[in-house]
Amino acid sequence: MKQLKIGMHLSISGSLDRAVDRAHELGCDTFQIFTRNPRGWIGRRLEPVEVEAFRRKVEHYGVDPVFAHMPYLPNLASPKDSVYRRSVKVLQVELERCEVLGIPFLVTHLGSHLGAGKSKGRERVVSAINRSLSTVRNDVVLLLENSAGTKNSVGSYIHEIGEIMTNLDEVERVGFCFDTCHAYAAGYDLKTLHGLREVIEQLDQYIGLDKLRVVHLNDSKGGLGSRIDRHEHIGMGRIGEEGFINILRSRLSKVPLILETPVDNRRSARENLGKVRELWKIAQEVEA
Ligand SMILES: [Zn+2]
Ligand SMILES: [Zn+2]
Repeated sequence: MKQLKIGMHLSISGSLDRAVDRAHELGCDTFQIFTRNPRGWIGRRLEPVEVEAFRRKVEHYGVDPVFAHMPYLPNLASPKDSVYRRSVKVLQVELERCEVLGIPFLVTHLGSHLGAGKSKGRERVVSAINRSLSTVRNDVVLLLENSAGTKNSVGSYIHEIGEIMTNLDEVERVGFCFDTCHAYAAGYDLKTLHGLREVIEQLDQYIGLDKLRVVHLNDSKGGLGSRIDRHEHIGMGRIGEEGFINILRSRLSKVPLILETPVDNRRSARENLGKVRELWKIAQEVEA
C-alpha cells in the first residue's frame, strides 16, 4: 500500500517545540526546521527543558522523521580559509545539535566556489564533510541538497553530487535531498514523464536510489534551466499541477516530501498541503 508522507519547513519562533505543535496543527506527517536563527553564525544554546519538550512532542504526535536544515551563512565550498573554517565548525555544531534533539537528518547546501572553479569547490566540500564526520561521531545522516545552478554554485547536477559522494570517507553517513524547484531551474524537466525518467535513471546511476531520503517539494518561479532559485506555491509555478501529478506518480514521492513554499497571502501552508494531497489522489487514479 502506497502512502504519502508530507510536511513542511516550519518556524521555531517561540521555542523549538512550538514547531512540533505547528506540524501537528497542520496535519503534517513530518517536518523540517532550522535548529536556531538561520541568519547568524552562532546559534543560541539549546536549553535542556526545550530539548526535552521537543523530543516529547515529536514522540507524542508521531511526526517523524524530523529534518533539520543548515543555516544560511556557512559555505562549505568557500575558497576563503576563514569562512571555510567557520563553515565546517557550524556543520559540526549542527550535527551535534541534531543528535541532542533526536533529529536523524541534517540537510545542507554545498555552497559556492566563488569563482575558484567547480573542481576546487567540490574538493572543499569533500574535505569539509570528511572533517566534520570524523570529528562528530553520531548517527545523524547528512543530506546533500541539489542547488539551482546559480553562478558558482556547487552541486546543481546529480552527477556532480554523485562525484562528491564517491570521494567521501564515510559515504554511509550521507544521503541525498532532492529539491524539485532547484532541479527544474537547473534544467531537469520534471514536468514530463520523460524528464522524470531521466532524473530517476541519473539518480540510480550516479548517487543510488537508496540514498534519496527526502524531497523538497517546491514549484518554481523561474523557467526550465533559468538557474533562478525562487520557490512557488505548489502548482502555481512553472512545474504546474500536471507536473506535480507526474512527480507524485514517480519514485520521488516514495520518500518524505517537505514543502518550502513561500509565506505570503496568495495561499496558506495548509492550502499547499491540501493541494499536494489532492494532486496525489489524482496521481493514484492515473496509475490505477
Ligand atoms: Zn530546498
Ligand atoms: Zn531554494
